[in-house]
Amino acid sequence: MICLFAKPMPKHSIVGHLDDISQALSIALPALQHVSRHRQSAPWATEAGGQLFGTLNATQVCVTEASGPYAGDERSRFRYRSNPAAAQRAIEDRHKRGLLYLGEWHAHVEDHPSASGLDDDAMRRLIASSQLNSNALLMMIVGRARSASGLAVWSVSSAAARRWILSANPEET
Ligand SMILES: [Zn+2]
Repeated sequence: MICLFAKPMPKHSIVGHLDDISQALSIALPALQHVSRHRQSAPWATEAGGQLFGTLNATQVCVTEASGPYAGDERSRFRYRSNPAAAQRAIEDRHKRGLLYLGEWHAHVEDHPSASGLDDDAMRRLIASSQLNSNALLMMIVGRARSASGLAVWSVSSAAARRWILSANPEET
């Protein structure tokens, strides 16, 4: 899989699929490295998060960059919400470079993350209040495990949240 706008092909990007649709997910190494820097490995760490950017077409969703956290975010051990003004600036900045806003990420104090009810509610509110062309957004939760099992990614719409099945990119091994 080739991602437009991706930096030179990373060694350990992650790919994902859903059972009944042909669209594939690709998470490029720069985005993975960014979110990995904010893993909650220290017991006192607070949740961090931000936005996901990349490209989208009928056959693939490519996450090429992640932004955040920002000064002024709401952060606690179990909750994260981006500073709305900073998130908006990040979205406008990436837009100028041709990258779409694809969704949100945040870190959890779990090895293998799962979505909390709060996460589902937050994503639905975001979709309801956004003026995006797309009616679905990615929600990525970054756990403590280093492999693909330490990441969880959903496509969330107002109707449903569907979890992507993730693995290391087989084209790189
Ligand atoms: Zn959460």
